[in-house]
Amino acid sequence: MNDVTAAALAPALFTLTTGPVNCYPEVLSAIAKPVLYDYDPAFLAFYEATVLKLQKALRIQTVPVILQGEPVLGLEAAAASLVAPVDVVLNLVSGVYGAGYGEWLKPRAGSFHEIRVAYDEVIDPAAVAAFLDAHPEVTLVAICHHDTPSGTLNPIEEIGRVVRAHGALYVVDSVSAWAGVEMDLDAVGADLLVTGPNKCLGCPPALSILAVSDRAWAKMETNPAAPRASMLSILDWKEAWRKENPFPFTPSVAEINALDAGLDRYLGEGPEAVWARHATTAAAMRAGVLAMGLELWAARPAIASPTCTAVKLPAGVDETALRTLMKRRYGVVISSGRAETFNRLVRIGHMGPTAHPLYAVVALTALGGAMAELTGRAIDIGAGVAAAEAVIRG
Ligand SMILES: *Cc1c(COP(=O)(O)O)cnc(C)c1O
Repeated sequence: MNDVTAAALAPALFTLTTGPVNCYPEVLSAIAKPVLYDYDPAFLAFYEATVLKLQKALRIQTVPVILQGEPVLGLEAAAASLVAPVDVVLNLVSGVYGAGYGEWLKPRAGSFHEIRVAYDEVIDPAAVAAFLDAHPEVTLVAICHHDTPSGTLNPIEEIGRVVRAHGALYVVDSVSAWAGVEMDLDAVGADLLVTGPNKCLGCPPALSILAVSDRAWAKMETNPAAPRASMLSILDWKEAWRKENPFPFTPSVAEINALDAGLDRYLGEGPEAVWARHATTAAAMRAGVLAMGLELWAARPAIASPTCTAVKLPAGVDETALRTLMKRRYGVVISSGRAETFNRLVRIGHMGPTAHPLYAVVALTALGGAMAELTGRAIDIGAGVAAAEAVIRG
């Protein structure tokens, strides 16, 4: 094995990805706790307490559901449980995840529509209102909150108002935004919001978190297409949180331990402080990127996510060469684009433990250094660091 291969295979010194992210230390300790038998009364009580703690963290009126698989399970389960052949679905697409969600909605719907915008843009609430006015038959609207492969943030609260006024069910993928982005779920009014612990909560990838409205429960309960006795069933888990009720199958005990620790961390620090930490880190990162003469992927800074900064690749820079050099030279691992955004941008995550402004300085140094080495262009890393530090100082 040569030195370059060895460096590529070594664990990263800094995992500054858009998920999965490295975990908070107290989460890592929690994973090492004993794995209790799921019907041990101690675990039944712990599971109920964790679900109620999650409800507190989500700040919602209904009891949330945990599905035992990473958030893609929750997203597919939502499509399977809510959509029936009688439904007319509108999918809102501003990126790779939004487009991908359409693949689960379309085959289950009676008819299917999309509003699509360029992947460096976000959905305009007025366009949604106009579409719904012209299509009163729409029964369900779906959107990805933070389309991670583009690092852009859709206005889910404004769109939620439009969807509610129309009366359709509203499904939101907030996997990479919840717990990192300021939001009021009551104001969003999602009927089913899917998120997970493996992004901004700083836990490992293994669970789906679902905030379900009473309307969504009613729809699932009357939907003959909604899965039962299946890994995709949300209904199976509706009452499983109560310690006197059985689980449909074995919950991921170690991951529940981790989630509980992540929630303690989030509630202990305080959601407002956590959101501010994410926002400051992303603002420092954006300022540094621009000061180094690089470009942001988002069409406007106002739509750039506080949990991920997508940086446009200059012409001729290969994304794999860039990320490989960043890891080899600096020990920094960042995320690539996906599908349509692959090799057009790279992404630095600010999620959970890495949503600390000094990680923006680390990322800027590695990004600027590797970019300079690959292109032979002068990149003023000092200016990048100074701009980030000015944001940190406020
Ligand atoms: C991370 C993420 C998911 C979950 O999918 P992964 O398999 O973990 O990539 C779903 N939606 C969004 C928007 C995400 O960022």
